[in-house]
Formats: sequence, C-alpha cells, structure tokens
Amino acid sequence: MLEVPVSAATDEFLEAERRREGIKVRRRFSEKRFLKELKDLGRFSLFVTDDGFAGNYLGDRVRNAVRIKSESVEEVTRCKLEFFRVRALSVVGFGGGRPIDVAKKTAWDLGKKLITVPTAPSHNGIASPTASLLEGGRKKSFRCGYPRKIIVPVFLWKTAERHVASGILDVLGSVTAIADVLLSSRVTGEKLRLRDLSLSLRGVEKVAEMKGLEDLEDAIISHGLAMKEDSRYCSGSEHEAEKCLSKKSGHLHGELVGVGTLLSAYLYRDLKFGFGEEKIFDWLLEAYRRRKVDRTVRKVLSDVSPELGNLGPELKAVRPERFTLWNYLDPEKIDFRKISREIESVL
Ligand SMILES: [Zn+2]
Repeated sequence: MLEVPVSAATDEFLEAERRREGIKVRRRFSEKRFLKELKDLGRFSLFVTDDGFAGNYLGDRVRNAVRIKSESVEEVTRCKLEFFRVRALSVVGFGGGRPIDVAKKTAWDLGKKLITVPTAPSHNGIASPTASLLEGGRKKSFRCGYPRKIIVPVFLWKTAERHVASGILDVLGSVTAIADVLLSSRVTGEKLRLRDLSLSLRGVEKVAEMKGLEDLEDAIISHGLAMKEDSRYCSGSEHEAEKCLSKKSGHLHGELVGVGTLLSAYLYRDLKFGFGEEKIFDWLLEAYRRRKVDRTVRKVLSDVSPELGNLGPELKAVRPERFTLWNYLDPEKIDFRKISREIESVL
C-alpha cells in the first residue's frame, strides 16, 4: 500500500512495548467471571460510566459509580470529589470513549491506578494515554497515562456489531494519517518516528487481515502504544474531517472517520510524491469491502452530504499546526460535494 521505510511492528515488539508501559490486557469470555470481577473491583474502586448501555449494564452491581453527563473537565472534577468522598483506591473507566476519557483524566490528576473496561471496540483511543475532553465548550486533548489494566469483555464485544464496524474504520483511518506524515516529510522535512509508524501500520494490517475480534483488540492496543507521544500516526486529515462533521450528526466517531478517510484518500490519488499515495483509495475501498463496512460508510456519506458544502472553510480552521493534506491543498477550493458523489458511485 504505502511505501514506508519500516515494516509493521512484530508480536514481540508489541509485547515488549506493552510491558514497558505496564499495561495488562485481560480477556473475559464468561459473563459470570466478569461480573464477579466487577464486584471485587467495586469494593475499592470508583467506577466512571454514563447513562447509555454501559451504565445500564452496570446498574447497581457496584457500590460507587459516577454516571457522567458529558466528557468535560467539570465531570472530571465531580469524579475527583466523589473519589475522595467514597475513599476509593483506584478508578475504573467503564463503557465507551466518554467515560473512559473522564476516568483517564481523573486517575491521572489524582495519581491513582486506572483500569479500563471498554464495553465495545468503537475506536482506537481506548488504550491511548490521551483524553479528549470539553473545556469551555471546546474539545481539548489532555495528556494522561496508560491504564494499568484493560479488561476486555469479549462476550459484550461480540454483540456490538455497529461499534465493531466503527472501530475497524477508526483504525483504517491511520492509512491517511500516515500518508499525511509522509507528505509532510517531503514538503516540510518532518522527521519520521519509526516506532510509532510501525505500531500504527501493525494496527492497519491487523484489521485489514482481521480474522476475529482479537485482531481488532490487537490493533487498538497497537494504536494506543503508537500514540505514546501524540496521535500523529493515527490521526491526520481524516480525523480533521471527522471533527468538522461530528458537530451535528448522531454518528459514531469511527463511522465519520471512515468518510473522512475516503475523502482524503480520493484527493491523494492525484498527488505525485512517489510514496504510493495514488494507490490508497483503491486499497481502502477493497479493505472496506472485505471488512463489510463499505455500506456503513456509504450511508454515512450520504447522511453528511448536506454538510459538505461548508467543509472546506471548516477544515482550514481545524488543528492547522499539524501538517496534513489540508495544509498542502487549499480545502476551500475543493468541491467536496462533487467528490462525495464520485465516491458514492464507486462504493
Ligand atoms: Zn479516531
């Protein structure tokens, strides 16, 4: 696919990096065992969850749980106060991205142990050391630490079809994120970080050749490790498009990343830097078909098409400090509606 100076990280390298960061991953296939574990954890932990599926599932199984209303710094403060009030020893993030991000920052600020229980594999930020939180109404990225333990309830993941598709699309978005780094290395002379590149590639390959949920889990952990310094190798032009499109719609993060990835990859076809950028669109279409996520992207693309008229100016304002395709092409001069119609005709 892309011509890069390193191959995907090996199993041994991933294991060594995971150990270096002190992250334990535990898979749970039996709900009975999982529920017992929750009960045990509940004795000394504060659970952070929300009012969605995760909060309902948790019910009153644990003594101390905060149900957050939003992923905001105010909710982090509320969790910290609750942590002291109940005299907890560790923080458990239970659910999707929002409660896990609030739990990450709560544990980090308090200097306490963080355990995460992602109830669905909906995106690759589950195992990253960063939290994306609202402060003053705007999303900001906060540096936190890695979880000490990630408990994967496989029996729940198996039932989360839409979230699995979203996770696959989020991981595959790294193809254009990597293309952006390669573009930047040619245009601005940005130095490549081979460790992060190889971990990001591993995630992409695992998902492209996915046989079961353990490959998606592996990809998510690889990407979490690839984001040790920052999200550069897992978040580029496609995530900037996602940030613009996520303002109004009710789609999952990865679903919109899937749309952003195709928009970006489509434009890469006409570039001539010689790192294989002209091939990524077709490669992604094929990968989407194999993973049966092409229909999801088609549906989301048609849902967001009314918003595409404004995409150009909005893209210009998102994260200009990170060099991506939108720093090279002028997004205001791109007819995104036309491109989306062309993509829809081949999807
Ligand atoms: Zn993402």
